[in-house]
Amino acid sequence: MEEKEELEIAQVTLTINEQPVEMEMTLPAQPVKASRVLPILQKMSDSFVKVGEEGVAAQGKEVSCKKGCNACCNHLVPVGELEARNISRLVEEMPEPKRSQIKKRFSSTLTHFRKSGWLEKLNTIQTKTNKERLEIATEFFYEGISCPLLADGVCSIYENRPLVCREFLVASPAENCSDPANKPIDRVQFPTSLSTPLRGIGNNPELGSSPPFLPLMLSLEWSEKFPESAEEKTGKAWMTDFFESLREYEKDKKEALKSVSTS
Ligand code: SF4
Repeated sequence: MEEKEELEIAQVTLTINEQPVEMEMTLPAQPVKASRVLPILQKMSDSFVKVGEEGVAAQGKEVSCKKGCNACCNHLVPVGELEARNISRLVEEMPEPKRSQIKKRFSSTLTHFRKSGWLEKLNTIQTKTNKERLEIATEFFYEGISCPLLADGVCSIYENRPLVCREFLVASPAENCSDPANKPIDRVQFPTSLSTPLRGIGNNPELGSSPPFLPLMLSLEWSEKFPESAEEKTGKAWMTDFFESLREYEKDKKEALKSVSTS
């Protein structure tokens, strides 16, 4: 018989942009793998997105994103190890023939970006300036290759889509999204981004240093080569790691803003 998971409630207060944000979380009380806390972080991301949507409404504007409009799925989707492995698991659990079709799309997308030389550019991404990184991401978008998980215009893992996809909402006309380098894009602002700090937790320590991000298209290949580490911690300990990663992210963001305003 499967053992019932023990849960505990944690009250969390974060200070974001000098504003207190209070949350209640139900966390596994016993040691679990990092992947177990991913649904908790997805829920947290959704509540931050809701705050962003309310902010848009308060300004008398509307979020333009809706089912079937998917130009944003042509963007580079950066994920970390946790989300890459989750994507791989979700694809493996898909029924046939969908699983084979999606796997084929991953493979043809990778072939395209390997042949074009774009994927190779990621090897030196850490040495690039922000401007150069933006150019690389823009180049990716204008290749016009949709995410391999987009099927019939809809995300095939919508409920489990990466946090970075949840955080991409706009209040500008939807048609502008097909030409973001030349048309204005009004991105919805959230209290903070959770997608970047997520990449800082649950990484396999045996791999040494993890890449700063993986493009989503590498998820299946990467997960096959590097399975999830056996490391287990309580939900509270994983969330402590996550909040530490979030704190670092906020600090870096403030430093970056400071250097922009002083340069
Ligand atoms: S994961 Fe889903 S929402 Fe994100 S880019 Fe791919 S298809 Fe679009």
